[in-house]
Amino acid sequence: MHRKIRKKRRVCKSCKTRFSGRYCPYCGAEYGQRHSLRTSGFIIVLLRFLFSVVLLAFLLFLAFASLDYVASVGNGSHTTAIAIVSSVKNALPKPFLQAYLEFKLSYLDFLFPKIIHLT
Ligand SMILES: [Zn+2]
Repeated sequence: MHRKIRKKRRVCKSCKTRFSGRYCPYCGAEYGQRHSLRTSGFIIVLLRFLFSVVLLAFLLFLAFASLDYVASVGNGSHTTAIAIVSSVKNALPKPFLQAYLEFKLSYLDFLFPKIIHLT
């Protein structure tokens, strides 16, 4: 006698779709389970987030330093750059501004004039 094999019916925990089989046909969740972050996944996500923050800070620093040099050349003709730089300098905490000025004096003053004169 032939017995009919019935697949187990599931309810997806993510989207509440009823289905049978391994993957939810609506959202693709395996066995209808929500995805959970494992320990290694969490560390990778955290490292990617921290890398993004460091990269963004570096890009903002480059943009600010470029604007600072643009504002310093041209005898006050670059008024927009001067306004942006002065408002950022007012917003920055004193220790950050002091560290930037020291970094500018020791490293950037050698690099940026060469870059500006080349272009
Ligand atoms: Zn689903």
